[in-house]
Amino acid sequence: MNIHEYQAKEIFRKYGIPIPPGEVASTPEEAEAIARKFGSTVVVKAQVHAGGRGKAGGVKLAKTPAEAKRIAAQILKLTIKGLPVEKVLVTPAADIASEAYVGIIVDRASKRAVFMASAAGGIDIEEVAAKTPEKLLKHPIDPRYGLQPFEAMQLAFFLYSDMKQVRAAAKILQQLYRAFSENGGSLAEINPLVTTPAGDVVALDAKMVIDDNELDRRPDIAALRDESAEDASEVEARKANLTFIKLDGNVGCIVNGAGLAMATMDLVKYYGGEPANFLDIGGSSNPEKVVAALRIITGDPNVKAILFNIFGGITRTDDVANGIVTTIKQNPLKVPLVIRLTGTNEEIAVKILKENGLSAMTDMDEAVKKAVALATGGKAA
Ligand code: GDP
Ligand code: MN
Repeated sequence: MNIHEYQAKEIFRKYGIPIPPGEVASTPEEAEAIARKFGSTVVVKAQVHAGGRGKAGGVKLAKTPAEAKRIAAQILKLTIKGLPVEKVLVTPAADIASEAYVGIIVDRASKRAVFMASAAGGIDIEEVAAKTPEKLLKHPIDPRYGLQPFEAMQLAFFLYSDMKQVRAAAKILQQLYRAFSENGGSLAEINPLVTTPAGDVVALDAKMVIDDNELDRRPDIAALRDESAEDASEVEARKANLTFIKLDGNVGCIVNGAGLAMATMDLVKYYGGEPANFLDIGGSSNPEKVVAALRIITGDPNVKAILFNIFGGITRTDDVANGIVTTIKQNPLKVPLVIRLTGTNEEIAVKILKENGLSAMTDMDEAVKKAVALATGGKAA
């Protein structure tokens, strides 16, 4: 789950990380009032679940409350990486002497949380990592001990040479690790971590991603979810208890079981197509889940064909057939449908489909080939 910068900052502040104060506005007038309250130059920052806001015009300095109002009005009209800006964070501007990057990600290769630090922080950290990897220090953390003080110092020495700043940064790194590990993070990042002309070390940006599997036992963190900032189809899928990930292709896939869903996507690609999504309707599907799945998939204008791939075990294929028929009666499909089903109650399912003018296949390869051909107008292999 993604959270906003202002929410990540609230978490980081609880652990003692020095962060300038800030308040959230959803109108230009509110932004103006907050700027007046701070009584200094402020930064107005788009709150969207996307990085690179600075480059997209979503982070701007305002010298007066009137300017804050004008800039907030501009930023609130922006769409950054497909996400409309609904809120801005207004925060007193800091003077910057240097910008560093510090972050923690979960690394599959080492199966650990890995710290990353670079003195070349700011808006181009991806480029630094790609072109000058020697400027990025990576350090895996042993989960039994966490970030030890000597490791924090080692990382901090990579960023600064002034002892006061090294100590301040080491403390921030340990606070960041606690914020990450105690709140179920899969990512925690400060970019930029700045030094001010007075020599202080301050976090000006904050990013945090929470592992979805941690949310059940952390209701306070789960409450930070902002559905208005999420992809509408993913929100609907979550409410229907479907595991859904939107992709860019044109073959809509409705499958039971994560493994079969992955295999289906592989096969779509193998036959020259591109899946429009990953969707697992789960082991114990009922007709309502199928109705929701079809509604989500047909809501994607890229989808040119829909492929059902159901291997009935606990999932009853007649439940799936009923879901398909219910949906189509209410809302006739505008794209072709290919149904492959086999297993529990197959005969009943085939009968239900037949009575409603639909047919089913049993061979997975044939079904995928057909769906790909329909989606691509026969152009793929
Ligand atoms: P991002 O582009 O989405 O990562 O947004 P950031 O919050 O990191 O802001 C982008 C850039 O704006 C930073 O790297 C800074 O250079 C600049 N910036 C952000 N906050 C301040 C501030 O308080 N004062 C000044 N002078 N610049 C800032
Ligand atoms: Mn940033």
